[in-house]
Amino acid sequence: MTSAVAIIGAGMAGASAARALHAAGHRVAVFDKGRGLGGRMATRRLPDGTTFDHGAQYFTARDPGFARDVASWIGAETAAPWGEPGWSAGTPGAPDPVRSLLAGLPVATGLTVSRLAREDGRWALTGARGERLPGAFDAVLVTAPAPQARALGETAGAEWSALDRVRYAPCWALMLAHEGEAPMPETHRREADPARPIAWIARDDTKPGRGGGRRTLVVHASPGWSRAHLEEEAETVAGLLTAELRCLPGLALPAPGRIGYAAAHRWRYALVERAAEEPCLWSPDLRLGVAGDGCLGGRVEAAYLSGRALAERVLADLP
Ligand SMILES: Cc1cc2nc3c(=O)[nH]c(=O)nc-3n(C[C@H](O)[C@H](O)[C@H](O)COP(=O)(O)OP(=O)(O)OC[C@H]3O[C@@H](n4cnc5c(N)ncnc54)[C@H](O)[C@@H]3O)c2cc1C
Repeated sequence: MTSAVAIIGAGMAGASAARALHAAGHRVAVFDKGRGLGGRMATRRLPDGTTFDHGAQYFTARDPGFARDVASWIGAETAAPWGEPGWSAGTPGAPDPVRSLLAGLPVATGLTVSRLAREDGRWALTGARGERLPGAFDAVLVTAPAPQARALGETAGAEWSALDRVRYAPCWALMLAHEGEAPMPETHRREADPARPIAWIARDDTKPGRGGGRRTLVVHASPGWSRAHLEEEAETVAGLLTAELRCLPGLALPAPGRIGYAAAHRWRYALVERAAEEPCLWSPDLRLGVAGDGCLGGRVEAAYLSGRALAERVLADLP
Protein backbone atom coordinates (compact mmCIF):
# COMPACT_ATOMS: atom_id res chain seq x y z
CA MET A 1 0.00 0.00 0.00
CA THR A 2 1.32 3.46 -0.76
CA SER A 3 1.07 6.27 1.75
CA ALA A 4 0.90 10.01 1.12
CA VAL A 5 3.67 12.02 2.75
CA ALA A 6 3.88 15.82 2.91
CA ILE A 7 7.38 17.25 3.07
CA ILE A 8 7.80 20.83 4.20
CA GLY A 9 10.96 22.32 2.75
CA ALA A 10 12.60 21.84 -0.65
CA GLY A 11 16.18 22.17 0.62
CA MET A 12 18.67 19.30 0.67
CA ALA A 13 17.04 17.52 3.64
CA GLY A 14 13.53 17.63 2.17
CA ALA A 15 14.79 16.60 -1.27
CA SER A 16 16.75 13.67 0.07
CA ALA A 17 13.77 12.41 2.11
CA ALA A 18 11.40 12.92 -0.85
CA ARG A 19 13.60 10.99 -3.27
CA ALA A 20 14.01 8.05 -0.85
CA LEU A 21 10.26 7.83 -0.10
CA HIS A 22 9.35 8.12 -3.77
CA ALA A 23 11.86 5.38 -4.64
CA ALA A 24 10.15 3.15 -2.04
CA GLY A 25 6.79 3.69 -3.76
CA HIS A 26 5.18 6.35 -1.55
CA ARG A 27 3.39 9.45 -2.83
CA VAL A 28 5.20 12.60 -1.76
CA ALA A 29 4.16 16.24 -1.99
CA VAL A 30 6.79 18.89 -1.25
CA PHE A 31 5.92 22.43 -0.11
CA ASP A 32 8.30 25.37 0.13
CA LYS A 33 7.72 28.99 1.01
CA GLY A 34 10.58 30.12 -1.24
CA ARG A 35 10.27 31.01 -4.91
CA GLY A 36 12.62 28.23 -5.99
CA LEU A 37 14.15 24.96 -4.83
CA GLY A 38 17.32 24.46 -2.82
CA GLY A 39 16.74 26.36 0.43
CA ARG A 40 20.12 27.60 1.61
CA MET A 41 21.72 26.08 -1.50
CA ALA A 42 20.69 29.26 -3.28
CA THR A 43 21.63 31.20 -6.40
CA ARG A 44 20.54 34.77 -7.16
CA ARG A 45 20.22 35.45 -10.89
CA LEU A 46 20.28 38.98 -12.33
CA PRO A 47 18.39 39.85 -15.55
CA ASP A 48 21.68 39.92 -17.53
CA GLY A 49 22.50 36.32 -16.50
CA THR A 50 24.99 37.19 -13.75
CA THR A 51 24.63 34.74 -10.88
CA PHE A 52 25.73 34.54 -7.26
CA ASP A 53 25.68 31.51 -4.96
CA HIS A 54 24.95 33.57 -1.87
CA GLY A 55 24.25 30.64 0.50
CA ALA A 56 26.15 27.33 0.61
CA GLN A 57 29.38 27.59 -1.36
CA TYR A 58 30.42 23.99 -1.90
CA PHE A 59 29.93 20.56 -0.37
CA THR A 60 32.07 17.61 0.61
CA ALA A 61 31.10 13.92 0.77
CA ARG A 62 32.29 11.44 3.39
CA ASP A 63 29.30 9.09 3.55
CA PRO A 64 29.44 6.45 0.78
CA GLY A 65 25.74 6.89 -0.12
CA PHE A 66 26.08 10.68 -0.43
CA ALA A 67 29.37 10.23 -2.32
CA ARG A 68 27.53 8.01 -4.85
CA ASP A 69 24.91 10.70 -5.43
CA VAL A 70 27.61 13.38 -5.74
CA ALA A 71 29.42 11.23 -8.33
CA SER A 72 26.18 10.86 -10.30
CA TRP A 73 25.58 14.66 -10.14
CA ILE A 74 29.11 15.25 -11.41
CA GLY A 75 28.46 12.72 -14.23
CA ALA A 76 25.27 14.58 -15.14
CA GLU A 77 26.97 18.02 -14.84
CA THR A 78 24.64 18.93 -12.01
CA ALA A 79 27.74 19.43 -9.86
CA ALA A 80 31.45 19.88 -10.57
CA PRO A 81 34.68 19.98 -8.60
CA TRP A 82 35.56 23.52 -7.48
CA GLY A 83 37.91 25.11 -4.99
CA GLU A 84 39.92 22.52 -3.07
CA PRO A 85 40.34 18.75 -3.61
CA GLY A 86 37.16 16.96 -2.57
CA TRP A 87 34.94 20.05 -2.88
CA SER A 88 32.00 20.18 -5.29
CA ALA A 89 29.65 22.99 -6.29
CA GLY A 90 26.23 22.68 -7.92
CA THR A 91 26.14 23.59 -11.63
CA PRO A 92 25.00 25.75 -13.23
CA GLY A 93 23.84 26.95 -9.79
CA ALA A 94 23.99 25.90 -6.15
CA PRO A 95 20.43 24.43 -6.07
CA ASP A 96 20.92 22.03 -8.99
CA PRO A 97 21.72 18.91 -6.91
CA VAL A 98 18.43 19.52 -5.04
CA ARG A 99 16.62 20.04 -8.35
CA SER A 100 18.01 16.74 -9.53
CA LEU A 101 16.74 14.89 -6.42
CA LEU A 102 13.30 16.48 -6.83
CA ALA A 103 13.04 15.98 -10.60
CA GLY A 104 9.61 14.63 -11.51
CA LEU A 105 8.21 14.98 -7.97
CA PRO A 106 5.34 17.34 -7.12
CA VAL A 107 6.73 20.50 -5.52
CA ALA A 108 4.64 23.56 -4.66
CA THR A 109 6.75 26.70 -4.18
CA GLY A 110 5.71 30.05 -2.74
CA LEU A 111 3.56 28.29 -0.13
CA THR A 112 4.24 28.79 3.57
CA VAL A 113 2.80 26.02 5.75
CA SER A 114 1.65 27.67 8.97
CA ARG A 115 -0.29 24.92 10.73
CA LEU A 116 -0.66 21.14 10.85
CA ALA A 117 -3.91 19.56 12.00
CA ARG A 118 -5.43 16.07 12.19
CA GLU A 119 -8.59 15.60 10.11
CA ASP A 120 -10.24 12.18 10.02
CA GLY A 121 -7.00 10.48 11.04
CA ARG A 122 -4.86 12.19 8.41
CA TRP A 123 -2.82 15.41 8.28
CA ALA A 124 -4.15 18.59 6.74
CA LEU A 125 -1.92 21.61 6.07
CA THR A 126 -2.86 25.26 6.41
CA GLY A 127 -1.18 28.04 4.43
CA ALA A 128 -0.05 31.49 5.57
CA ARG A 129 -3.44 33.14 4.92
CA GLY A 130 -5.31 30.44 6.80
CA GLU A 131 -6.23 28.61 3.60
CA ARG A 132 -6.44 24.82 3.52
CA LEU A 133 -3.68 23.45 1.26
CA PRO A 134 -4.58 20.61 -1.10
CA GLY A 135 -4.08 17.02 0.02
CA ALA A 136 -4.53 14.78 3.05
CA PHE A 137 -1.43 13.03 4.33
CA ASP A 138 -0.52 9.94 6.35
CA ALA A 139 2.70 11.59 7.54
CA VAL A 140 4.30 15.02 7.58
CA LEU A 141 8.05 15.69 7.53
CA VAL A 142 9.25 19.15 8.51
CA THR A 143 12.69 20.16 7.20
CA ALA A 144 12.68 23.89 8.03
CA PRO A 145 15.52 25.27 10.22
CA ALA A 146 15.03 24.07 13.81
CA PRO A 147 13.31 27.15 15.35
CA GLN A 148 10.78 27.20 12.49
CA ALA A 149 10.30 23.41 12.66
CA ARG A 150 9.74 23.66 16.42
CA ALA A 151 7.05 26.34 15.93
CA LEU A 152 5.27 24.31 13.25
CA GLY A 153 5.45 21.15 15.39
CA GLU A 154 3.78 23.01 18.25
CA THR A 155 0.71 23.63 16.07
CA ALA A 156 0.37 19.83 15.91
CA GLY A 157 1.14 19.11 19.55
CA ALA A 158 4.60 17.68 18.84
CA GLU A 159 7.13 17.75 21.70
CA TRP A 160 10.38 18.32 19.87
CA SER A 161 12.40 19.48 22.86
CA ALA A 162 15.61 18.11 21.29
CA LEU A 163 15.35 21.07 18.90
CA ASP A 164 15.73 23.51 21.79
CA ARG A 165 19.45 22.83 21.99
CA VAL A 166 20.02 23.71 18.32
CA ARG A 167 21.77 27.05 17.75
CA TYR A 168 22.29 28.80 14.44
CA ALA A 169 24.61 31.68 13.60
CA PRO A 170 23.28 34.26 11.16
CA CYS A 171 25.25 35.30 8.09
CA TRP A 172 25.16 38.45 6.01
CA ALA A 173 26.19 37.68 2.41
CA LEU A 174 27.48 40.42 0.11
CA MET A 175 27.23 40.00 -3.68
CA LEU A 176 29.40 42.18 -5.93
CA ALA A 177 29.68 42.20 -9.72
CA HIS A 178 32.18 44.33 -11.61
CA GLU A 179 33.90 44.69 -14.95
CA GLY A 180 37.61 44.27 -15.60
CA GLU A 181 40.57 43.00 -13.67
CA ALA A 182 41.39 43.41 -10.01
CA PRO A 183 43.64 41.31 -7.74
CA MET A 184 41.34 38.65 -6.36
CA PRO A 185 41.65 35.23 -4.80
CA GLU A 186 41.97 32.61 -7.55
CA THR A 187 38.81 30.83 -6.37
CA HIS A 188 38.22 31.56 -2.69
CA ARG A 189 39.78 32.85 0.48
CA ARG A 190 38.86 32.02 4.06
CA GLU A 191 39.71 34.55 6.76
CA ALA A 192 41.15 32.80 9.81
CA ASP A 193 40.28 35.33 12.54
CA PRO A 194 36.61 34.94 13.63
CA ALA A 195 36.78 38.34 15.35
CA ARG A 196 37.19 40.04 11.95
CA PRO A 197 34.10 41.20 10.00
CA ILE A 198 34.73 39.02 6.94
CA ALA A 199 34.90 35.22 7.08
CA TRP A 200 34.86 34.12 3.44
CA ILE A 201 35.38 35.48 -0.08
CA ALA A 202 34.60 33.49 -3.22
CA ARG A 203 35.18 34.34 -6.87
CA ASP A 204 31.79 33.02 -7.86
CA ASP A 205 32.53 33.41 -11.58
CA THR A 206 35.23 30.72 -11.28
CA LYS A 207 32.60 28.07 -10.53
CA PRO A 208 31.91 25.86 -13.56
CA GLY A 209 28.98 26.80 -15.79
CA ARG A 210 28.51 30.37 -14.52
CA GLY A 211 27.48 32.75 -17.28
CA GLY A 212 27.21 36.50 -17.48
CA GLY A 213 30.88 37.24 -18.17
CA ARG A 214 31.24 39.60 -15.23
CA ARG A 215 33.58 39.15 -12.27
CA THR A 216 31.48 38.17 -9.28
CA LEU A 217 32.36 37.98 -5.62
CA VAL A 218 30.37 36.46 -2.77
CA VAL A 219 31.53 37.59 0.64
CA HIS A 220 30.26 36.12 3.92
CA ALA A 221 30.46 38.16 7.10
CA SER A 222 31.61 36.39 10.25
CA PRO A 223 28.96 35.19 12.74
CA GLY A 224 29.94 37.90 15.25
CA TRP A 225 29.68 40.73 12.72
CA SER A 226 26.46 39.29 11.26
CA ARG A 227 24.90 39.13 14.74
CA ALA A 228 25.94 42.69 15.55
CA HIS A 229 24.37 44.00 12.31
CA LEU A 230 21.49 41.52 12.02
CA GLU A 231 18.60 43.99 11.98
CA GLU A 232 20.22 46.63 9.77
CA GLU A 233 18.95 47.37 6.27
CA ALA A 234 20.48 45.26 3.48
CA GLU A 235 21.62 48.41 1.67
CA THR A 236 23.49 49.66 4.75
CA VAL A 237 25.12 46.26 5.23
CA ALA A 238 26.20 46.14 1.56
CA GLY A 239 27.99 49.47 2.04
CA LEU A 240 29.61 48.46 5.32
CA LEU A 241 30.86 45.10 4.05
CA THR A 242 32.19 46.61 0.81
CA ALA A 243 34.17 49.09 2.92
CA GLU A 244 35.51 46.22 5.09
CA LEU A 245 36.53 44.36 1.93
CA ARG A 246 38.52 47.36 0.74
CA CYS A 247 40.57 47.21 3.96
CA LEU A 248 41.64 43.58 3.50
CA PRO A 249 45.30 43.15 2.58
CA GLY A 250 46.08 41.42 -0.74
CA LEU A 251 42.70 42.13 -2.27
CA ALA A 252 42.02 45.27 -4.26
CA LEU A 253 38.51 46.06 -5.44
CA PRO A 254 37.83 48.18 -8.50
CA ALA A 255 36.89 51.81 -7.95
CA PRO A 256 33.32 52.25 -6.63
CA GLY A 257 32.12 53.46 -10.08
CA ARG A 258 33.17 50.16 -11.66
CA ILE A 259 31.13 47.99 -9.29
CA GLY A 260 27.99 47.33 -11.30
CA TYR A 261 26.01 45.48 -8.64
CA ALA A 262 26.27 45.33 -4.86
CA ALA A 263 23.61 43.77 -2.65
CA ALA A 264 23.44 42.02 0.69
CA HIS A 265 21.29 39.09 1.79
CA ARG A 266 20.50 38.24 5.40
CA TRP A 267 20.52 34.55 6.38
CA ARG A 268 18.93 34.50 9.81
CA TYR A 269 19.50 30.77 10.32
CA ALA A 270 22.69 30.20 8.36
CA LEU A 271 25.17 27.90 10.05
CA VAL A 272 24.53 25.41 12.82
CA GLU A 273 26.65 26.19 15.89
CA ARG A 274 25.12 23.40 18.00
CA ALA A 275 23.15 20.49 16.55
CA ALA A 276 20.53 18.25 18.17
CA GLU A 277 22.94 15.36 17.55
CA GLU A 278 20.14 13.05 16.48
CA PRO A 279 19.93 11.97 12.83
CA CYS A 280 16.26 13.02 12.81
CA LEU A 281 13.20 13.17 15.08
CA TRP A 282 10.18 10.95 14.44
CA SER A 283 6.98 10.57 16.44
CA PRO A 284 5.48 7.25 15.30
CA ASP A 285 2.16 7.90 17.05
CA LEU A 286 1.70 11.26 15.33
CA ARG A 287 3.51 10.25 12.15
CA LEU A 288 5.30 13.53 12.25
CA GLY A 289 9.04 14.02 11.84
CA VAL A 290 11.86 16.54 11.57
CA ALA A 291 15.00 16.46 9.47
CA GLY A 292 17.49 19.12 8.46
CA ASP A 293 20.92 20.40 9.25
CA GLY A 294 19.85 21.26 12.81
CA CYS A 295 19.82 17.51 13.52
CA LEU A 296 23.35 16.47 12.58
CA GLY A 297 25.29 19.66 11.76
CA GLY A 298 25.44 22.62 9.42
CA ARG A 299 26.58 21.09 6.17
CA VAL A 300 24.89 20.08 2.96
CA GLU A 301 25.92 16.46 3.51
CA ALA A 302 24.50 16.48 7.05
CA ALA A 303 21.17 17.79 5.72
CA TYR A 304 21.12 15.04 3.08
CA LEU A 305 21.88 12.33 5.68
CA SER A 306 19.24 13.66 8.06
CA GLY A 307 16.62 13.56 5.29
CA ARG A 308 17.62 9.99 4.46
CA ALA A 309 17.49 8.94 8.12
CA LEU A 310 13.96 10.33 8.48
CA ALA A 311 12.82 8.58 5.30
CA GLU A 312 14.09 5.30 6.77
CA ARG A 313 12.15 5.87 9.99
CA VAL A 314 9.00 6.59 7.97
CA LEU A 315 9.50 3.49 5.84
CA ALA A 316 9.83 1.34 8.96
CA ASP A 317 6.45 2.59 10.27
CA LEU A 318 4.25 3.26 7.25
CA PRO A 319 2.55 0.53 5.27
C1 LIG B 1 25.74 31.63 3.99
C2 LIG B 1 25.79 30.13 4.09
C3 LIG B 1 26.94 29.45 3.71
C4 LIG B 1 26.99 28.06 3.80
N1 LIG B 1 28.10 27.41 3.33
C5 LIG B 1 28.10 26.07 3.30
C6 LIG B 1 29.15 25.36 2.66
O1 LIG B 1 30.03 25.97 2.04
N2 LIG B 1 29.13 24.00 2.70
C7 LIG B 1 28.12 23.30 3.30
O2 LIG B 1 28.14 22.06 3.29
N3 LIG B 1 27.09 23.95 3.88
C8 LIG B 1 27.06 25.30 3.88
N4 LIG B 1 26.01 25.97 4.43
C9 LIG B 1 24.98 25.20 5.15
C10 LIG B 1 24.04 24.49 4.17
O3 LIG B 1 23.53 25.42 3.25
C11 LIG B 1 22.90 23.89 4.98
O4 LIG B 1 23.41 23.06 6.00
C12 LIG B 1 21.93 23.04 4.14
O5 LIG B 1 21.73 23.59 2.86
C13 LIG B 1 20.63 22.92 4.93
O6 LIG B 1 19.66 22.20 4.21
P1 LIG B 1 18.23 21.95 4.87
O7 LIG B 1 17.43 21.22 3.87
O8 LIG B 1 18.42 21.36 6.22
O9 LIG B 1 17.63 23.41 5.13
P2 LIG B 1 17.24 24.57 4.10
O10 LIG B 1 18.16 24.55 2.94
O11 LIG B 1 17.15 25.81 4.91
O12 LIG B 1 15.80 24.14 3.59
C14 LIG B 1 14.65 24.35 4.36
C15 LIG B 1 13.54 24.82 3.44
O13 LIG B 1 12.33 24.90 4.20
C16 LIG B 1 11.58 25.98 3.71
N5 LIG B 1 10.62 26.35 4.76
C17 LIG B 1 10.89 26.77 6.02
N6 LIG B 1 9.75 26.96 6.71
C18 LIG B 1 8.73 26.67 5.85
C19 LIG B 1 7.31 26.70 5.96
N7 LIG B 1 6.70 27.04 7.10
N8 LIG B 1 6.55 26.37 4.87
C20 LIG B 1 7.15 26.02 3.70
N9 LIG B 1 8.51 25.97 3.54
C21 LIG B 1 9.29 26.29 4.60
C22 LIG B 1 12.61 27.05 3.41
O14 LIG B 1 12.11 27.99 2.45
C23 LIG B 1 13.76 26.22 2.87
O15 LIG B 1 13.75 26.16 1.45
C24 LIG B 1 25.89 27.35 4.31
C25 LIG B 1 24.73 28.04 4.65
C26 LIG B 1 24.67 29.42 4.53
C27 LIG B 1 23.39 30.14 4.83
